[in-house]
Amino acid sequence: MDAQVRDVLVAKEAEIVEQMTTLSRPMQEQGSISFGKRVGDGTAMAVDRLTAVTAHDNLQGLLDAVRHAQARLDQGRYGVCEVCGSSIPAGRLEARPWATTCVAHST
Ligand SMILES: [Zn+2]
Repeated sequence: MDAQVRDVLVAKEAEIVEQMTTLSRPMQEQGSISFGKRVGDGTAMAVDRLTAVTAHDNLQGLLDAVRHAQARLDQGRYGVCEVCGSSIPAGRLEARPWATTCVAHST
């Protein structure tokens, strides 16, 4: 059971790291394809950039949670709410294997 959970968390961590690498890649790859720049392209790029930054922040938060859950697993405290110490429902862990609090104490 624990080994399976670790596999899931490790796979998730790798997935997030890969997505973050893709996001932080310079946007020149797309830019070099278009020749003439139209008015408004700058704005569109700024918006894209903002979206990328927001997505990056979200991924970073998720990555922290996944790594934190792995640490809990190391401590033998996986599946136990960090706040109240009650066990986290299996359904919740299935949906969010990196959850380290029960539903009542989720942020
Ligand atoms: Zn709790």
